[in-house]
Amino acid sequence: MSINFADQTWPQLQRAVEANTLIFLPIGQVEEHGRHLPVSTDATIASAVGKALAESLTDEGVPTLVMPTLWTGYSTKEMARWPGTMRVRPQVLTDLIYDVCASLVQMGFRKIILLNCHGHHTGILRVVVRRISDDCGVYMAMFSPATLSAKGYDEVRKSERGGSIHGGEWETALMLHLGEPVDMSQVTREDVMRYHSDFVAGDNFTGSQKVFWSTWGIQKSRTGIYGDPTMATAETGKAIMEAILKEGVAFAKEYWTVSEDG
Ligand SMILES: [Zn+2]
Repeated sequence: MSINFADQTWPQLQRAVEANTLIFLPIGQVEEHGRHLPVSTDATIASAVGKALAESLTDEGVPTLVMPTLWTGYSTKEMARWPGTMRVRPQVLTDLIYDVCASLVQMGFRKIILLNCHGHHTGILRVVVRRISDDCGVYMAMFSPATLSAKGYDEVRKSERGGSIHGGEWETALMLHLGEPVDMSQVTREDVMRYHSDFVAGDNFTGSQKVFWSTWGIQKSRTGIYGDPTMATAETGKAIMEAILKEGVAFAKEYWTVSEDG
C-alpha cells in the first residue's frame, strides 16, 4: 500500500484513522539557495525526508502516511535580493497550516508530526502546534531534519564553523546524496558566515539557543549562500540522512506509542 496520503481513497483513509495512523506533514519552501542549488531545495529535502521516515516507520509496524509537501512559505526580505524566493506572509502561512492540520483532526487523526524543513518557520509552526492543542485537544509534534541530524552531521562535516547556515555543506551534501541537480562548478566559500557566538544558535543547529537573534542582516551575502558548500559530498549527505532517520524514527515511535491519558 502507498505511504502517500494523497494516493488513498476515502475508505482507505477511514481505515487509517481507525488504525491511529501517524501523519507527517512536510513543510518546505521555495527560495534562492546560491548559484549551485535549485530554489526547491527545502521542499525537495522535505519530501525526501517525509517519504523515508514514512517508509521506515511502516516497515517497523507503525502505520504512517505522508502528506503532499507544502512547498511555499515565509522567508525574510533579505532572501528576496535574488530571484526564486517566495514570501508568504507569516499570518497567512500560520492559518494555512492550521487549517490543513484542523482538517486532519476533523477526519479523526490524532498523531501528527510537522516536518520543519526551513529555519524561518520554527516560530510559526510552534504557534500552530499550540493553537491546535488548545482548539482541538490534539497534541501535534514538530521536528526538523537539521536539528535531528546535528550530532551525526557534526561527526562527519568538513567545513569550518559558519559553513552550514544556508546553501552550505549540510544542504548541498544532502542534495548530492538525493541525486538532485547540484552544480558543483558554482560552489564558493566567499560567503561563509564570519560571525559566531556562544549565545546564538549557529550552523551546528542545536548549539546554544540562549538568545534568538535574526542574524541575516549582519553579513551581506554576494552569492545568496550563507556558508561553505565547497566540501560537500554525497557521502556526507548519506550520513546526514541516516542520522535524520535514526533520530526521527526513534522519536516518532515514542510519540505514536505514548497514549493520551499517560
Ligand atoms: Zn534551505
